[in-house]
Amino acid sequence: MRCRSGGGHAKKTISRHTAHVKISSVGDCLFCQIVSGEIPATRVLESPRTLAFRDINPQAPSHVLVITKDHYRDLGEAAQAGDGLVDELAAQAHQIAEAEGIAGTGYRVVFNTGSQAGQTVWHVHAHILGGRAMTWPPG
Ligand code: AMP
Ligand code: ZN
Repeated sequence: MRCRSGGGHAKKTISRHTAHVKISSVGDCLFCQIVSGEIPATRVLESPRTLAFRDINPQAPSHVLVITKDHYRDLGEAAQAGDGLVDELAAQAHQIAEAEGIAGTGYRVVFNTGSQAGQTVWHVHAHILGGRAMTWPPG
């Protein structure tokens, strides 16, 4: 299932902080449906603008996704919002790592951005992975 920015089911609001048109939710977007509660997820942390939940197909003992509650298709769109949102995602990622007990041993934060990087859900999300030794470079 893929999000379509500006698609027929989009609810748009004008941000008070920027001149950008902000898409608050897209009806056929999996992660927007998790935010609204239409699709269940194991939630681990929430802030006014972000939500974190466990990945349904974990690739490490700890594998949590942190997303924006508003719909941005990828990291670039979220960064363009320019209102500290990406800083907030990073801060949430570290807070999750601490709560998961992996901040000390080490953890990886991954934003797959674009199809060649492996992005499959077109709503910005950071993967927080840890609890095992990681290899480099990633596949
Ligand atoms: P990406 O491939 O970087 O776009 O990551 C999308 C991630 O979403 C994958 O790791 C999936 O396992 C995960 N995912 C897909 N559906 C769900 C779901 N319903 N709940 C939690 N995670 C999901
Ligand atoms: Zn979405």
